[in-house]
Amino acid sequence: MLDCPVRLVGYRCESPFKETSSDKRSHHPHHPHHPMSKQHYTDACSSHPSPSVAGRSTDCDDYGELVVLGYNGHLINYEKGRKRSKFVLLKRAAANGVKPYKKHVVKNPQNSKAVQDSALHSVSYTMSRNQAVVVEYKSDPDTDMFQIGRSGESPIDFIVMDTVPANQRRYSEEFTQSTISRFACRILVERNPPYTARIFAAGFDGARNIFLGEKAVKWHSGEEIDGLTTNGVFIMSPTDGFTPASKPGTWYEVSVGGGIYTARNSRADPLKSHQMLNADNVLHDGTLIDLCGVTLLWRSASGLHASPNEQEFNNLVEGINACRPQCPVGLTTLVLPSKSHASPGLDKQPFVYIKCGHVHGRHTWGQKDDDDDKRTCPLCLKESPFIKLEIGFELSFYVDAGPPTYCFSPCGHMASENTVKYWAEVLIPHASNEFHAICPFCAIPLDNPGYSVSTTHSILDKSLFSLFQGHICTVGGLLLSL
Ligand SMILES: [Zn+2]
Ligand SMILES: [Zn+2]
Repeated sequence: MLDCPVRLVGYRCESPFKETSSDKRSHHPHHPHHPMSKQHYTDACSSHPSPSVAGRSTDCDDYGELVVLGYNGHLINYEKGRKRSKFVLLKRAAANGVKPYKKHVVKNPQNSKAVQDSALHSVSYTMSRNQAVVVEYKSDPDTDMFQIGRSGESPIDFIVMDTVPANQRRYSEEFTQSTISRFACRILVERNPPYTARIFAAGFDGARNIFLGEKAVKWHSGEEIDGLTTNGVFIMSPTDGFTPASKPGTWYEVSVGGGIYTARNSRADPLKSHQMLNADNVLHDGTLIDLCGVTLLWRSASGLHASPNEQEFNNLVEGINACRPQCPVGLTTLVLPSKSHASPGLDKQPFVYIKCGHVHGRHTWGQKDDDDDKRTCPLCLKESPFIKLEIGFELSFYVDAGPPTYCFSPCGHMASENTVKYWAEVLIPHASNEFHAICPFCAIPLDNPGYSVSTTHSILDKSLFSLFQGHICTVGGLLLSL
């Protein structure tokens, strides 16, 4: 339990916890903890008709889950069917995986039997106007296949859309342009322990075909035939798993055949880069998958067992609230949202001066012309934006079960110290050849857009603030106090 000399917290928040029920544990024993888990398992088990889906098991064995970065437990204005912020990969009732079988060199892939036959999976590589290589696939009884993309067509199990940072979202806005492929990638999971999951670029369409056109990057020499998709599929596996000791790894590109390559200079560069023979396309707990417009976090079922469960997390929040944290100016008692304090009201809502980390209730002291971006902290007199603190409810982003005593800057999403420090170091692909750190709960960049990678550390140090600690501490050389 925390020491509690601090006076704190209150919250208006629509807690995702409200959407869950207390019987989740009995509904799905593997994931008692995730805010959205009940709904996910229910939908996933009831299934949707799909020609590429052989069927789903009734025992709901799960392999793991994919979580969209930038959402705090649910999408903004909907969360239903195959469009959601999280997708649980469940063991199929019957295997639906496929593997390469035969290769044909043809003049026109459209005339190939493997392409014409909608029961057969095939990948066509157009090498020139008069030559194509068609790789025919056959059923693999040992794997289950899951497809991800922007398309609403039935072969896509998990529909993803471009993520817009929370401060740029327009609730009614529909995207007309996207950089995400309609059939972006596929994941094949071994049906038996240890349930190894592998990712491949491109997904099969409704006719069970993948076409790599003349302009796509591809190569054919000897027995090898492979290629890259237009905007590419990139993966990054952290070192030391998804734990407090995790450090971000290197981003690599995955080919259609599952090979691993160093990232191209820019996303759609027409040149193939070097193959990394010592790397593979296996998804590990904490692997990030970037589909050019949306980034997904893979959490393995075994990794999730070590994550905080919902009840443990609620206990941590309640522990902070039990300290009756108080605004040092208004002396009001502040309350963090939890199941029992879902809407404590604006007067109990905690705010933070984001540059110094001092937590207060809402007050008008130091306010200039209603500009909350330039407020003077009453405790340290530093000028700073004064923003509402929000809890990071998506527990799949947590690297440990620590209390939510740190927050991201500039958005104010709270999570455990190790979680905030980890994500502050993770650079996510952005545009064609840039990277930036973002808050995993809202996708707001943790720094000004366009900074260079070499300045990462000095900027990110400022992203970390110790909250609710009740004592002075330093993070990255910055003096923090409450
Ligand atoms: Zn201050
Ligand atoms: Zn945030």
